[in-house]
Amino acid sequence: MGSEGYFRGLVEFSNECIFDCSYCGIRKSNTAVERYCLSKDEIIETALWCARQGYGSIVLQSGQQSNREFIELIVGGVQQIKQRSRSSVLPHGLGITLSVGEQSKETYRRFFDAGAHRYLLRVETTAKELFEKFHGPEKTLQRRVTCLETMKKTGFQVGTGVMIGLPGQTLNDLANDILFFKDIDADMIGMGPYLVHHETPMNGYRDEIAERKNEIFQLSLNMIAATRIALKDVNIAATTALQTIDQKGREMGLMYGANVIMPQATPRHVRNKYLLYDGKPCVDESAADCAACLEQRIAATGRAIAWNSWGDPCHFFTRTGNQD
Ligand code: SAH
Repeated sequence: MGSEGYFRGLVEFSNECIFDCSYCGIRKSNTAVERYCLSKDEIIETALWCARQGYGSIVLQSGQQSNREFIELIVGGVQQIKQRSRSSVLPHGLGITLSVGEQSKETYRRFFDAGAHRYLLRVETTAKELFEKFHGPEKTLQRRVTCLETMKKTGFQVGTGVMIGLPGQTLNDLANDILFFKDIDADMIGMGPYLVHHETPMNGYRDEIAERKNEIFQLSLNMIAATRIALKDVNIAATTALQTIDQKGREMGLMYGANVIMPQATPRHVRNKYLLYDGKPCVDESAADCAACLEQRIAATGRAIAWNSWGDPCHFFTRTGNQD
């Protein structure tokens, strides 16, 4: 994938969620969370800000919903972002990745036709017992995998990933996760350490996870390296969760084989409401601060940033035979 790092402006546009995943801070049952959803105009403005920064690509992420209003917000938002972000440096507009959960085949098609060309859906863990333990009965591993297959057929560049250090997760489980990435022929991988959120049923693991902090951090870096070796020509993100454990976590992710970094672009007035885990970094900084800070962080690793570029993974073109 070369030595350049790709930026994706991260826009966390809603924390409303119908699921109750036991690790996640914005799970449905967490009544302590103040729920929000940005308006279409706010989403578009944020995206255009990213384009002006030279990010080239954005990720629109949210909790999971499937109601009509939500789907229309995304379809309309994506269409307008594509139109309005076109410029001499971005002739095809911003690259848009969606990370908005499990949707129907028809909905994936509508998102794709609107102009999104990548989709991220982490499988979370491929160990069935663990998956079942940490999710309610309404969320199944099988459905998650089916969604990934559907996205691929729809034409998306497909991303998946797992959490690392989940209580009870073994090295064998993690090795199987990498084999799964290969089997499903993923184009992009996003992985990070599991971190405790105090308002979740998994808060009881707090001490155990705190004790294993260094081990989980190293394991997360090793997962990036092993995935890079096994999958080669995919995009791999150095995720924010890495930086929660270690100040230099994201740079280290790049050094271990990641090539994507996601500067926080979520408007500041809602940023502290999208807390999936405790200790999330960059909550108080402005989006402009995050841009400058990350640029320095990448430069410190000796890598260059590919400005105004979609930064598509070579794997997608090899997999589909598409030479564009
Ligand atoms: N609703 C979307 C986006 C989920 S949030 C979807 O279903 O895909 C993005 C990711 O954050 C999740 O896939 C999960 O892997 C991660 N995450 C959630 N809670 C976490 C926690 N406590 N620690 C670390 N990662 C977490």
